[in-house]
Amino acid sequence: MAKINMKTPLVEIDGDEMTRVLWTVIKEKLLLPFIDLKTEYYDLGITNRENTCDDVTVQSANAIKRLGVGVKCATITANAARQKEYGLKQLYPSPNATIRAILDGTVFRKPISVSRVKPTVSTWKKPIVIGRHAYGDVYKASEMEIDGPGKVDLVYTKADGTEKRVKVADFKGRGIVQGMHNCDESIKSFARACFLYAIAEKLPLWFATKDTISKTYDGRFKAIFNEIYETEFREKCAGAGVDYFYTLIDDAVARAVKSEGGFLWACKNYDGDVQSDMIASASGSLAMMTSVLVSPTGVFEYEAAHGTVQQHYYRWQKGEKTSTNPAALIFAWSGALAKRAQLDNTGDLSDFSKRLETALLKVIEDGIMTGDLAKLSDPPPQKILNSWDFIDAIAQQLAAGN
Ligand code: NAP
Ligand code: MG
Repeated sequence: MAKINMKTPLVEIDGDEMTRVLWTVIKEKLLLPFIDLKTEYYDLGITNRENTCDDVTVQSANAIKRLGVGVKCATITANAARQKEYGLKQLYPSPNATIRAILDGTVFRKPISVSRVKPTVSTWKKPIVIGRHAYGDVYKASEMEIDGPGKVDLVYTKADGTEKRVKVADFKGRGIVQGMHNCDESIKSFARACFLYAIAEKLPLWFATKDTISKTYDGRFKAIFNEIYETEFREKCAGAGVDYFYTLIDDAVARAVKSEGGFLWACKNYDGDVQSDMIASASGSLAMMTSVLVSPTGVFEYEAAHGTVQQHYYRWQKGEKTSTNPAALIFAWSGALAKRAQLDNTGDLSDFSKRLETALLKVIEDGIMTGDLAKLSDPPPQKILNSWDFIDAIAQQLAAGN
């Protein structure tokens, strides 16, 4: 069978531990036999990040900017324990944070649905996608303990030296205070990324804040979203059949739980942190969650939502064939290939990415799965396989043409 051609390479970012092991197997069994795979390869394994003083991470992000599409394996974010384990000279920043800062992105997370794994919320028929703003608010706040009676003001010293001041509180005793911020440019990027994603996926877009209480801060988020919608996206949304809906965050939570799902929920940073874990656990598991970083300029990076599955890796090193679920990694590849196909207008590559996803889902629907899903499957599984046999089962399904 002739292999499918690719016009433009995509950026391939290798990673660490169990996901690095599975990365090679996925390529060998599910991609290389079918596609004349063109990638620009960057090794973000912890050893190579150390050897290149983390330059490779910056290079990989710039490559995504240049080529438009990347696919990334999970990577270790170094901490003191990892420094000791790998003998690192220093603690490099999280690769995801570095890449995100260069691409100026918003992270979208979407559950992979299979009928055997029922969402905890019985009304959900379609996945709910979370779009999380990844800059500012409480994640970049300054905090202070108040030791006793006294006055706290918020002071803005303008570039020309003049001051603007508002009272925060008159303390009668001990307490706490917090100052947080956001920037119009970052909120605009967030809004644009959400509208672009909603249009690409043809999903209604929900956005919610607490602007009745936070009239200035959340009010600005609401106003910017509205301005971006009116000036840049109203017609495009209408053309794609995409509705934009704004409401209060508590109303959004109540509606989400009663909804059928099937929408993009744009969340401020903290709301996105909390809601994405709620959506992930209510929908199944982290191993069944896709993640894509979308930049406002239309550059895309696909990855799995989970980490390097460290404990499975230690067992694999001792010779065990672990039953690690490769679904999110496979969907990272299929997502990146589909986006490459869309940008290059290559229909057969687009078809392949769909067939790959269908083959994976068919195998699971037939009751053949990894251990994590076996625990959740209703009805119970027919067969529980290790990752290698599971990937072989997908390859057979794919070769059989579904
Ligand atoms: P993790 O790799 O997501 O794994 C946590 C646990 O979740 C696993 O022990 C496993 O549970 C289960 N799990 C996750 N993915 C699975 C899969 N594909 N199949 C089956 N089970 C799966 O998180 P972690 O162990 O906390 O972090 C490990 C490393 O990953 C850390 O160094 C962290 O810095 C890094 N990390 C990277 C990213 C990223 O690159 N995007 C994200 C998060 C974490 P059981 O052990 O019960 O089977
Ligand atoms: Mg969290």
